[in-house]
Amino acid sequence: MRVSIAAQACILVLELGIDYYDGWEEVIVYPDEFFPEQTWTDEAGVVHTERVGRLGEAWLQGPVVLSWADVAKAGDEDAANVVIHEFAHKLDMLNGSANGFPPLHRGMNRRAWSAAFEDAFHHHGVRVRRRENTEIDPYAAESPAEFFSVASEVFFEVPDVLAGVYPAVYEQMRLFYRQDPLRRAREVPVTAS
Ligand SMILES: [Zn+2]
Repeated sequence: MRVSIAAQACILVLELGIDYYDGWEEVIVYPDEFFPEQTWTDEAGVVHTERVGRLGEAWLQGPVVLSWADVAKAGDEDAANVVIHEFAHKLDMLNGSANGFPPLHRGMNRRAWSAAFEDAFHHHGVRVRRRENTEIDPYAAESPAEFFSVASEVFFEVPDVLAGVYPAVYEQMRLFYRQDPLRRAREVPVTAS
């Protein structure tokens, strides 16, 4: 379990360095989907409690929490990878709470990043609200933070899909992760087995 999670988590920081995961050290693994208790206060001041099923969570300066059943499913190149998703939140949180805006490298353009992601988030949200069949998980429409994490899954798992639907986002992610999975996919030699 440790090797599987660590290997998948390393994909994101291959060209960034392990320092990008500094500041926290705990990964909690549940056997399957888990149901943390959530409380919120409504307008009348009444406190509500409910349990919502989750496959993973990333806490600000705290642990990453994962469902092992879903970690085991990750890595099959179907655009869903809970490890990449939660560790992308961790990178997003390097400069404060998760908001879809991780610390950009010198030479990257903040405006280009914002324009690419805002356009894509808006476009995706409109399509999800119209109940269209989207190439990217509808969950990405929840918030800019979720869009970044879901787009990271797509970037590494099925890069051609992200490059096809949101090329400007692909380009910004290529600059941020310093990887070009689309090119790598093309360069993989064809072998028969
Ligand atoms: Zn998330």
